[in-house]
Amino acid sequence: MSINLKNLVPVLDAKWLGNETDIFVDHISIDSRSLQNGSQTLFIALSGANNDAHLYIAELIEKGVQNFVVQYIPENVKDKANFLVVKNTLSAFQQLAAFYRDLYHFPVIGLTGSNGKTIVKEWLNFLLSPDYNIIRSPKSYNSQVGVPLSVLAINEKHNLGIFEAGISTINEMINLEKIIKPTIGVLTSIGSAHDEGFDDLEQKIQEKLLLFKESSVIIYQKEQLVDQSLKTFCNQYLVKERVLFSWSFTDNTADVFILKKETKNDNVFIQYQYQNETFDLEIPFNDSASVENTISCLLVLLYFKYDFNTIQSRVKMLYPVHMRLEVKNGINNCSIIDDSYSSDFQSLKIALDFLESQQKKNATKTIILSDIFQSGFSNEELYSKLAQLVSDNKISRMIGIGSTISSFKSKFPNSIMFENTAEFIAEIENLNFSNETILIKGARSFQFEEIVSLLEEKTHETVLEINLDSISHNLNYYKSKLASDVKIMVMVKAFGYGNGGLEIAKLLEHHKVDYLGVAFADEGISLKNGGVKLPIMVLNPESTSFPSIIQYQLEPEIYSLKGLNAFLKIAKEKNLKDFPIHIKLDTGMHRLGFEENTIEELIETLKHNSSVRVQSVLSHLATSDEPKHFGFVEKQIALFEQLSSKLIAELNINPIRHILNTSGISNFPNAQFNMVRLGIGLYGVSNDPTEQKYLENVGTLKSIISQVRVIPSGDSVGYGRRFMAQKETKIATIPIGYADGISRLWGNEVGFVTIKNQKANIVGSVCMDMLMVDVSHIDCKEGDSVIIFGESPTVVEMAAALKTIPYEIMTSISQRVKRVFFR
Ligand SMILES: *Cc1c(COP(=O)(O)O)cnc(C)c1O
Repeated sequence: MSINLKNLVPVLDAKWLGNETDIFVDHISIDSRSLQNGSQTLFIALSGANNDAHLYIAELIEKGVQNFVVQYIPENVKDKANFLVVKNTLSAFQQLAAFYRDLYHFPVIGLTGSNGKTIVKEWLNFLLSPDYNIIRSPKSYNSQVGVPLSVLAINEKHNLGIFEAGISTINEMINLEKIIKPTIGVLTSIGSAHDEGFDDLEQKIQEKLLLFKESSVIIYQKEQLVDQSLKTFCNQYLVKERVLFSWSFTDNTADVFILKKETKNDNVFIQYQYQNETFDLEIPFNDSASVENTISCLLVLLYFKYDFNTIQSRVKMLYPVHMRLEVKNGINNCSIIDDSYSSDFQSLKIALDFLESQQKKNATKTIILSDIFQSGFSNEELYSKLAQLVSDNKISRMIGIGSTISSFKSKFPNSIMFENTAEFIAEIENLNFSNETILIKGARSFQFEEIVSLLEEKTHETVLEINLDSISHNLNYYKSKLASDVKIMVMVKAFGYGNGGLEIAKLLEHHKVDYLGVAFADEGISLKNGGVKLPIMVLNPESTSFPSIIQYQLEPEIYSLKGLNAFLKIAKEKNLKDFPIHIKLDTGMHRLGFEENTIEELIETLKHNSSVRVQSVLSHLATSDEPKHFGFVEKQIALFEQLSSKLIAELNINPIRHILNTSGISNFPNAQFNMVRLGIGLYGVSNDPTEQKYLENVGTLKSIISQVRVIPSGDSVGYGRRFMAQKETKIATIPIGYADGISRLWGNEVGFVTIKNQKANIVGSVCMDMLMVDVSHIDCKEGDSVIIFGESPTVVEMAAALKTIPYEIMTSISQRVKRVFFR
């Protein structure tokens, strides 16, 4: 890509505020963290309700970025760079992508539907890649932001595009259509689920079809409702010689009619009729979604006029698709980012950005990379670009696997190269992987999954999966409730409410929250050691930890005269000046804090004292989610207002004031003062059922089935024989127990787990490391995945049944359960 910025002025309807006239950029970025940002980058400052990229412009200028698309020019960067000023940066981003798309004239496949888009896209890429240089949406980049990003990665070597478009409500597809402009449309499974954003299924279908406005072929599963909508659609949006190309299990007027479908072991055999001939196709999956997705691919291959033998030989090699980048715990304190099934240049760029965001302090950044196929570039060009990328991203250790990449070793300083995966594995011991963040990325044929399994830390099969995107979503939801000048402190105490302290703190740092809160000094120290730079307040600092609080620049909450005097003593000894402290007032919680009758003395002690500075004054609500106590809360708030005002007036200071926790944010919008303290809501749990709907689930506790057995009527299960089978019963054993944090009260048919989307009751008592469930009604086997909590049961449901609160359930999950982060 090379774009002259001057040409963009009319395209974006922008105002140009810059010095030079002819400026070319070759990289469009919306991610301020990316190390790929540089002098050739055009940075688009997207500005959501809660996340304003304009705030990062000064930082980016320092890093060498000179060109920006903005809605306004922040005061501190005036005249320091070139700006294209537009009304709305998201629209400008989309217009830019649409303009860029129009420069290319090769066939483009556009995919939409309710399910299967990403899988069909990945499979089509695999099936067609022997014959085309394909540009496709990375991962599931199918949103209003993801689609333009995907399209802007097109280059002059590509000769086929595959892009997916996802929408959640009406009037969204029209934007995406302009950017993708598919010539070939594929509608994947439409699903019957009711979607929030649409009045009904018909409206959903009509909206999705808009992607195909200019497509000359539309591929779909023939069913009445879709057929009807298509008829109206085709009359409205005429295209010369448009073809409808359909398939069906039931309707023999479809172009491809599936006569038979048989399951044999792990495979399905379908017999289909096409142009009066019959074919038998073997599909390497046995679930119906995969079969339908394979048939969508089949139609595309038929449309491209592939012969049956080629189709069969390629379809046989289809594989399960990894939908996301996952961070796993590796051996010797390594983290592993597993992207072992794809190796194209564009997805490498994305994975490198993710690597940077997961980077821990003092950890080495390593990539293990295979040969890259079908880029369209000559190898010389391709590996030069790759070397540049590796160097831009400050990768300290580069390991290449494959004969082609090996032959370009000289381009990669300090690299180690292997001819093939087996050679690497033979040497793996000698490479001494430790304290590294390792990105593992390779083409499917290199079987990098073996490398992942060798470098992964061996633990039992139970993991707590944390969805980082959901955390961002929940943060933004609460931010949207705050007045614009109100700051936000996020509580990451107790290991981020059990979800993982450092990883979440790093994400929050990126989102520019103002403060982090922890309970004890140790928690703060481990965040600082992990590289977190945000200020951290320690809620309950013991006097013995004051020296390390000072050493690590943590900020103590001071809640008593005794604590204050002890801290002042150390502060004096160490000659501190203006060290930030936080004063906690007791307004009715009666846990920690200065009471009303100690305020005078507090003021006296702080007066004329220059070693500390009152950074904030806070109090904590005793309740904030029970309407019957709201009168009491109002009194707490009023007392806080009164006492803090006195402090401020008599000390002549200007501290941050804060009193609200999560439920307080929801219920007492008038008491935001200068900051709020968000806790449980960030982790996807609200005490209010209506509010719960707006939050996304963050943690999913998962395990697997260790063993399945059938017991006869009259036999018992587990310790104390507390379950007696009334009939023949199929029992599955799951390797998670009370030592992992699952309460024994959840056993004996109180609680359940989810297996294959079905409930399985826990039978008998929960053991230390295991529990047993009744799976008589579920078709399952050893190794199948089990959900302990997440979407179902939710921790809220569990808490209700166990007569406790979600907080206790979340923080009880033991540290021996590994946390896995993804987005
Ligand atoms: C834990 C805690 C919070 C956060 O509470 P949530 O109910 O989880 O939002 C806020 N303030 C203090 C002092 C806390 O201890």
